[in-house]
Amino acid sequence: KETLDKGLEKSKSGIFEKISRAVVGKSSVDEEVLDELEEILISSDVGVDTTIKIIRRIEKRVAEDKYTSVEELDTILREETAALLEENNSQDVQNSFETDNLPKPYVLMVVGVNGVGKTTTIGKLAHNFQKNGKKVVLGAADTFRAAAVDQLKLWGERVGVDVIDHGMNTDPSSVAYDAVKVGVEKNADVIIIDTAGRLHTKVNLMKELGKIKRVMQKVLPEAPHEVMLVLDGSTGQNATIQAREFTKVTEINSLAITKLDGTAKGGVVIGISDEFKIPVKYIGIGEKMEDLQVFNKIEFVDSLFK
Ligand code: GDP
Repeated sequence: KETLDKGLEKSKSGIFEKISRAVVGKSSVDEEVLDELEEILISSDVGVDTTIKIIRRIEKRVAEDKYTSVEELDTILREETAALLEENNSQDVQNSFETDNLPKPYVLMVVGVNGVGKTTTIGKLAHNFQKNGKKVVLGAADTFRAAAVDQLKLWGERVGVDVIDHGMNTDPSSVAYDAVKVGVEKNADVIIIDTAGRLHTKVNLMKELGKIKRVMQKVLPEAPHEVMLVLDGSTGQNATIQAREFTKVTEINSLAITKLDGTAKGGVVIGISDEFKIPVKYIGIGEKMEDLQVFNKIEFVDSLFK
């Protein structure tokens, strides 16, 4: 929680300052305060639709309470936002670094456009699973981006897990096939497949991801168990747009939102979590191995709006 507070410092100081300014000279939460709050949430990348839902909830509560002092505003904001996310995210996937309740091997396919932190997130995941005593195999199937394979191999060495690669410009589905095969042979707990994310060629990407899935299913018919989309939180609304585009290309089961440290756009996690009904599983709050956290709605909202 402390690391999370620190990671979200930029986002929350912005929001906090704006709210403090909005309530100066006010004693109770009135329409004017709520109008300002609405603007603050939208400018904090929470997203228009989600902001409106939050404001409606607060309005209702304020109306029921008859008198709400401005001192209570941040508590109410936290509670209503958390309640909204809770309500809309019933189909939670297991979000932890444990695999005990998952099929073995568990095949996780990771998608996302270049630069969002996909490789780094895979490295961090490998580290966390490994730390919990799980055996991990990585597949370097992002064979298009220069250095992607090398970067994943570097993470593999750093963390101490096997990386299956065929070099650059090779067939990604053949890498995925081998990674799943080796994972099964070595009795791995988790197999994580890195894939290329060239969203500008949507039809090709759709075909390519489809092929990767079909080919790995020759080894393990139920694979992949999960497709995770990685989004760069520091791009704010762009992350939302990418989520919208990717969900058209392939089924997405979970999200990882990176680079929430050093950005004031942390509010985007709330909007994305509300809009897509796809559980946010992990958040990235730094470049190091340890800087990946399991996403907890209540803690996140608590850190952001405090
Ligand atoms: P990919 O192209 O999607 O595989 O992206 P990379 O994993 O290579 O990451 C791109 C850059 O973002 C690298 O410099 C990473 O160190 C950095 N990065 C990834 N995740 C985070 C994060 O949570 N916080 C910060 N500050 N940087 C990150």
